[in-house]
Amino acid sequence: MLSIEEALDIVIARTTERIPGAGVDRLTLEEAIGRVIRIPVISDLELPPFDRARMDGYAFRSGSTTGASPTTPRRLAGIGEIAAGSLFPGQVGEGEAVRIMTGAAVPAGADAVERIEVIEVEADGSILLRAPVPAGRNVTPRGFEVRAGETIITAGETITPARAAVLATFGYAEVPVASRPRVALISTGSELVRVDEVPAPGQIRDSNTFALNGYVRSAGAEVVSARLVDDDFDATVAAIESALALADVLLLSGGVSMGDYDLVKPALQSLGAEIHFERVAMHPGKPTVFATRGQKLIFGLPGNPVSVAVSFALFVRPALGRMLGAAQVELKRTRAICRTSVKGAPPRRSHQPGNLVIVDGQAFIEPLRWSGSGDLVGFMNANALFIIPEDRAQVSAGELIEVIQLDD
Ligand code: AMP
Ligand code: MG
Repeated sequence: MLSIEEALDIVIARTTERIPGAGVDRLTLEEAIGRVIRIPVISDLELPPFDRARMDGYAFRSGSTTGASPTTPRRLAGIGEIAAGSLFPGQVGEGEAVRIMTGAAVPAGADAVERIEVIEVEADGSILLRAPVPAGRNVTPRGFEVRAGETIITAGETITPARAAVLATFGYAEVPVASRPRVALISTGSELVRVDEVPAPGQIRDSNTFALNGYVRSAGAEVVSARLVDDDFDATVAAIESALALADVLLLSGGVSMGDYDLVKPALQSLGAEIHFERVAMHPGKPTVFATRGQKLIFGLPGNPVSVAVSFALFVRPALGRMLGAAQVELKRTRAICRTSVKGAPPRRSHQPGNLVIVDGQAFIEPLRWSGSGDLVGFMNANALFIIPEDRAQVSAGELIEVIQLDD
């Protein structure tokens, strides 16, 4: 059986071929939040663009304060004020000071700002300083934060609110972002009814569509169609055919285990799809299928809701990330101390839902009470999956183990 790493390598190799074809959308900065930027952003400015005051106070030459002390204050003549958004027209000479606001440009001739709280302002507008002020105090020099020509954002990064603010600072009203991969969903199973229907005995409501819809969106892709299909060969073939006409990626759930009604693989084969793997040494999610037809990627995920979550995280999310040209396609992994002992599933690597908490700087993983890969209510509150290695029948309380962080 393939290891998870071998299976992921196959997925990535097939996905990488598709990157050069990835489309680009030009979006306004408002619309671009959450999308993957396709160009690097190189600074054409210095930030700050001028020597900037960090405090409200007075700007002056530091040399004018030499020798100031509580008993021998220096008196500087107030020669004006700098309003926000403008420059002081003149020079600040020896013995002179200009009232300045936080964020304003320090005037020519001045090299320090003292904050208003420690300054005595006289009735005639002059000021008293009772300690020397060193050059540079409360001044952020021009170019201190960013120099011209520096790469600020690399292609493939996600546009967060903070990055949108940076893009605005550099004048990007529009940004080229990766087009969202188009994903079609098919939930297979004659037991399934739609969310707005009442299940008859032996039926259940389809839930995978809604989990997958969320996973797909949070991976930066879009769902272009979603449907249910009975465990019927012809219906499955027809559903796959029409989904592939609309989408770049098809995610099927259910119908890939060894039961009599598991029709996904034969249906894919009859449509000329190439099956690259159909079993992975993982628990849950062993019967995960990966196939391609032409440029399209097809994942057959086992129907159990938790298997869907694990297979999506391990294989589909990285593939979608690659298609977007995203800089970050790896899962977020960390290590944590396991709070209780838990059973593994040798020879398969087991992924189980847990609650990752940090206590006094140490990460702990608390296994959630759940009754197996069908228990989606038990799974609902997990913020992490912890990993029990393939060669371990059990992990003991207190052991340091690997954890995958789930962020949505
Ligand atoms: P399967 O992989 O088709 O054998 O399905 C495994 C288990 O997952 C069965 O108990 C199914 O009823 C359940 N299941 C399959 N698809 C869905 C779905 N879309 N929503 C909720 N449960 C499902
Ligand atoms: Mg089924």
